[in-house]
Amino acid sequence: MGLRGGIDLGGTKIQAVIVGASHGVRGQARIPTPKDGGPDGVIAAMAEAVRTAATEAEVETSALDGVGIGSPGEVDPDAGTVTNAYNVVPDWNRTISVGDILATELGTKIGLGNDVRVATAAEFRLGAGKPYRSLLGVFWGTGVGGGIILNGSPWRGRGAAGEIGHMVVRRNGAKCTCGREGCMEAYSGRRAMELEARRRMKHGEKTALFKIMERKKRVALTSGVWAEALEHNDALATDLIDRAVAALGAGIASAVNLIDVEAVVIGGGLGTRLGEPYVARIEQQMGPHLFVDARPPAVHLAALGDLGGAIGASLLIKR
Ligand SMILES: [Zn+2]
Repeated sequence: MGLRGGIDLGGTKIQAVIVGASHGVRGQARIPTPKDGGPDGVIAAMAEAVRTAATEAEVETSALDGVGIGSPGEVDPDAGTVTNAYNVVPDWNRTISVGDILATELGTKIGLGNDVRVATAAEFRLGAGKPYRSLLGVFWGTGVGGGIILNGSPWRGRGAAGEIGHMVVRRNGAKCTCGREGCMEAYSGRRAMELEARRRMKHGEKTALFKIMERKKRVALTSGVWAEALEHNDALATDLIDRAVAALGAGIASAVNLIDVEAVVIGGGLGTRLGEPYVARIEQQMGPHLFVDARPPAVHLAALGDLGGAIGASLLIKR
């Protein structure tokens, strides 16, 4: 039947899709990433998400051509393993044979790839990057990830290319969650922004961010929480987002100065949630930092929205 599955594995949620031969979504399921069962619990939840999506698509998982997984952490596509996926669950501190386990669970073959790279591939092949041959994907969420396409092919470097979140936008700057200083992510990543919001609140600044979080029954400042605080002109939220946008502008423009891609596509939880107006603001903040400012790259919002990661993962399964 030519149906394929895709899983976007994240620290907050697991998104599964079933897509048809022309990449249309036939079924989908989204479940929160379980935090108390370790990597085993996460893998069980991934299988459950695929089964639910497959039920919606009226197909058995064993009848799928395969299921692709976009995962954070150190991904080894050939071995089918994921190592040190701390963003998913903190105790994912070893190498797990995700591919073998899920192949047995779901009765189909499994493809594995880096989450940001598969999302970039999806935008390049099916989304906002379609008209271009060279592309920088920027995924603004818990952290800030990047994917690079040059001359129509993904650029992996020695395996770790695209870590745009850790470009230095200020020497001796804010402490990054990676342990270094002045990274773009230290200003723009949702996790770093939350730490900064908590720090400033302790020092007496007022904000509704955490009240909104509690009302929404969240345990962290999600993109939806930030969006709501911005709608209510919360001073602290506005200031931290302005700072994030300025850092993204500087970091993305610096990357463009280096590789001169035709287009930048901005996605991720925050990028998708805040949408076009914020993409326009990032583009504006890039301006002063672009060396060839007479010919800026096109800057687009990711067209596949928050299903892009899962659809991209499904592309790992070749027909
Ligand atoms: Zn960093």
